Amino acid sequence: MSVNHRTIALVAHDHKKPDLIEWSRNHIELLKHHKLVATGTTGGLIAKELNLDVHRFKSGPLGGDQQIGALIAERKLDCLIFFWDPLNPAPHDPDVKALLRLCSVWNLPVACNRATADMLITSPLFANDEYLRDVPDY
Ligand code: PGA
Repeated sequence: MSVNHRTIALVAHDHKKPDLIEWSRNHIELLKHHKLVATGTTGGLIAKELNLDVHRFKSGPLGGDQQIGALIAERKLDCLIFFWDPLNPAPHDPDVKALLRLCSVWNLPVACNRATADMLITSPLFANDEYLRDVPDY
């Protein structure tokens, strides 16, 4: 087992951004070994608050979710931490659904709340270079 370099996408809706910042702070020692990408506002906050290197796509409502979806379809993403907001409507709800759908299409690990994200990022399989998830052959 070794610390590897996976590509992790971080996305949080506005009311969930404080949760994602706190979660990222709790796991900064793990996160700094991986390549981080994010939607625009989320990525800007994580870079500023935690001083982590984050590649920022467009803001979610402006196409950032779809850019992350494209990474999934191109098999360039290993994991998605997506704290979407179950209590407030999002203008880009179709993009949110599309992103979650692609996680299922491509068997991509996705965490939509902190407890799942805690378990995912600390999983021995996550840190195991030899673990390769099955990618469906369509
Ligand atoms: P944001 O996008 O990080 O640019 O706020 C997140 C989202 O709404 O998907």
